[in-house]
Amino acid sequence: MWDEIIKSRLDSNGSLRFPVYLSSAFNLPEGERYRYSRENNPTVEELARVISLTEDSESTTCFSSGMAAISSTFMSLLKPGTKLLMGSDCFARTYNLAQKIFRQWGVEICFTDPGLDNLLSVNFKPDVIFTETISNPLTRFYDQSAIRSHFGDEPVIIADSTLSTAFNYNSLNDGADVSLQSLSKFASGHNDAIGGSASGKTKIIEDIDQMRRNLGGSMDPLTAFLVKRGLETLPIRMERINRNALEISRRLMESSKVENVLYPMLEIHPDYRNTSQKLKGGGGIVTFYLKDKIQNVKEHLNKLRKIPRANTLGGIETGISHPFSMSHRSLLLDEMKRLGINERMLRLSLGIEDIEYIWDDLQLIL
Ligand code: PLP
Repeated sequence: MWDEIIKSRLDSNGSLRFPVYLSSAFNLPEGERYRYSRENNPTVEELARVISLTEDSESTTCFSSGMAAISSTFMSLLKPGTKLLMGSDCFARTYNLAQKIFRQWGVEICFTDPGLDNLLSVNFKPDVIFTETISNPLTRFYDQSAIRSHFGDEPVIIADSTLSTAFNYNSLNDGADVSLQSLSKFASGHNDAIGGSASGKTKIIEDIDQMRRNLGGSMDPLTAFLVKRGLETLPIRMERINRNALEISRRLMESSKVENVLYPMLEIHPDYRNTSQKLKGGGGIVTFYLKDKIQNVKEHLNKLRKIPRANTLGGIETGISHPFSMSHRSLLLDEMKRLGINERMLRLSLGIEDIEYIWDDLQLIL
């Protein structure tokens, strides 16, 4: 399957790469199929085709960001009175979207404490379930087959597969109905594009695609080109990233300066029994807690010479973030406490550099 993706489809001129159709509209009648690029565009459609191959899905629709994919999917599936079950350990914007917007519009939402066991033990009959396959930043693993067998066929199961990636885990084949991705992360992999996707059976993706056209969060063709180019090297990037992340997480565990390390492939991880069977690799996110209080986060992380302090993850270069003051700062203190996010927590996104290059730099903040 990955070889098919690398080979790329030739266009009618025989160009080796699929071209970027930078055209807002298409002349009728020959441009009937595309008409207008908010609705549909050949380069974006080509990316969707390739994502469907990696996700093993019937259909995919692409968005201007991961959040556009999540909000359009929610808009398509949630109505006043719909019962939504959600793991509370997710990207803060996704949490806020549900908590501050959809709840206000009458969607009944049950947020569970981190971990699959808590999700499976609720007294709540959901119509829709949302989890991140590997949650950000706690790295808890939400096994989609366990969710499906516990709740049965009725609920629509949405999996945000951003952190696990199509290389490490296939959420659709494991029971999810919709696999969402922020393509801005590991999928594109070079910190140069913002995008999102929703994949699944045509029947459900068609509705989400119509919502995209209505809301207008469509992907532009240049981004589609960049994401597709990145996706073609996902397997070799992820093999290296998986290896780097596992090794760094082991070294961090042994450091006297570190209190705890969260990484799905560590034997001490609470989901290890599942992750060791279901995941090809643990992905690139390693979250850890320093033993000592960080006096001034900015000054502390500025000691790093090579690793940038960045509000994103999934690139070929290692990055570090402080969820408390960065990605999850919009949460209330109580909400952060529930998730175990505190001032001593740091989140690494491992890249493809030599392991000693990364480890040498990390010494400066341990
Ligand atoms: N889902 C997860 C798990 C994320 O970590 C993020 C962003 O960090 C998003 C969705 C949102 O994606 P985007 O930034 O492309 O809108």
